[in-house]
Amino acid sequence: MVPVPKTSNPRVIIIGGGFAGVKLVKKLKNLPVQIVLFDRNNYHTFQPLLYQVATAGLEPDSIADPLRKQLEPVKNFFFRMGEVFKVNPEEKMIETEIGPLDYDYLVIATGSKTSYYGNQSIMHNAFPLKQIPQALDLRSHILQNFEAATIANDIEEINSRMNIAVVGGGPTGVEVSGALGELKKNILPKDYPELDFNQMHITLLEGSGKLLGGMSEFASNKA
Ligand SMILES: Cc1cc2nc3c(=O)[nH]c(=O)nc-3n(C[C@H](O)[C@H](O)[C@H](O)COP(=O)(O)OP(=O)(O)OC[C@H]3O[C@@H](n4cnc5c(N)ncnc54)[C@H](O)[C@@H]3O)c2cc1C
Repeated sequence: MVPVPKTSNPRVIIIGGGFAGVKLVKKLKNLPVQIVLFDRNNYHTFQPLLYQVATAGLEPDSIADPLRKQLEPVKNFFFRMGEVFKVNPEEKMIETEIGPLDYDYLVIATGSKTSYYGNQSIMHNAFPLKQIPQALDLRSHILQNFEAATIANDIEEINSRMNIAVVGGGPTGVEVSGALGELKKNILPKDYPELDFNQMHITLLEGSGKLLGGMSEFASNKA
């Protein structure tokens, strides 16, 4: 069993310390329950600014907020770091990488996965952007490509290392493309003076023919 103090109050286990999980912990703070929050990380990720980390505009710690610190004022609260693998509703038990734990109430707030709309090629070749390690991988990949471009002799290789395709013209795709455009204009030419940035192309691909499809006509046209 995951060590958690025994209590006569009902135990509420929340899986996921994203916006939903954190908000729920705060809402439950004055109720006679024991709250146990599980997350695979001990920090909350502020996903709206992941694109800034991916494009080197922000450092990762700017968007990672320690869960224990954020939820410290909640007295009936316990945090345990660990991936939850399985829920066993008959026994009211979860299985995690640090052991099992029983619950009275269970809330699954594990967020969503990147959707590739069934396109295997994008799934195998693109970088998803949901977690801080993914944003850092993308950032590192982009910068390593520019390093490689500076020592490449073949013009095709140089161009392929400088060109970036962004898949999905929703808010994140538009933000990432815009941030890459700013990098191209203001930062990269100073960092890599030997490269010709007229040859850098940022291509935003969107299947519906409309950017920011879920937003207003005005925002869509402007994007
Ligand atoms: C790049 C990006 C930009 C966005 N920009 C905006 C924006 O500008 N405005 C806006 O309103 N919304 C934005 N969103 C959407 C918003 O971030 C999500 O709607 C919100 O984070 C969902 O909250 P959640 O708590 O449901 O899940 P999440 O925030 O995804 O949290 C889920 C948590 O569960 C944990 N977890 C998952 N599985 C397990 C497991 N098996 N075991 C243990 N822990 C687990 C994860 O580590 C994570 O901490 C953006 C999302 C992304 C990806």
